[in-house]
Amino acid sequence: MHNLQLNNNRREHEWQTILQTAKNNHFPIALIHNLKHSMTQERKQPPSPSHTQPTKNEKWATFSFSSAQIRKVTKLLKRSRIKIAFRSNNTLAHLIKTTTKTKTPPHDRPGIYQLKCHTCNHLYVGQTSRNLKTRYNEHIRYIKNNNPRLVYAQHILNNRHEYGTIDNLMILLKPILNQHVLTTYEQFFIHSFHKHGNLSSEQSSGNPNPLFDLAIHSPQPHTNKASCAMFFPMDTQAANRI
Ligand SMILES: [Zn+2]
Repeated sequence: MHNLQLNNNRREHEWQTILQTAKNNHFPIALIHNLKHSMTQERKQPPSPSHTQPTKNEKWATFSFSSAQIRKVTKLLKRSRIKIAFRSNNTLAHLIKTTTKTKTPPHDRPGIYQLKCHTCNHLYVGQTSRNLKTRYNEHIRYIKNNNPRLVYAQHILNNRHEYGTIDNLMILLKPILNQHVLTTYEQFFIHSFHKHGNLSSEQSSGNPNPLFDLAIHSPQPHTNKASCAMFFPMDTQAANRI
């Protein structure tokens, strides 16, 4: 930054970019300020021979190379005693970890699920940020306690219908780890099931949503996968938020 021919505005802009990049990479901001200060002081003084000599007090810092932007930060450190080493997030350990995750049984994962009535086959759609087993046990507990607060229990109790085992009734529609998109996906599946006439009458189908209709009728081979749901507006009226 100091070595570039910039006017004050451009220099300040460049400085803000460096600060933002450092912040995004969780780099200590105070250290960046100190470095800028020492480099400014250095420019005011004639260069001392020690800068070109290798020093014994060199320290190493490692950075995750998330984008080329990180170079803006490491460039700052070039003339300091801190040496830079880059590391990658794309390690073998990370790859193995991801593979292990995908082998988790569906009932042990969080996300959007459908729960079927054993008598009439009507479906209920729900979301959970924990796992399906835990949520299934809660639904059954409400039925056993004659408590219709949850919509599925309400359907079973009001109609005197039957429920069954988790393996027979509950299906993971979409595994989701990011809690912020749970409601959007849930609303999409509720909308989709309602359009196909499968949704339990006790469950609200939500407000009309032309974008959901577009996704349902798009020529994609797997409309139930809700691959476009990320772009849909968030509807906070979740049927059964957990
Ligand atoms: Zn039923």
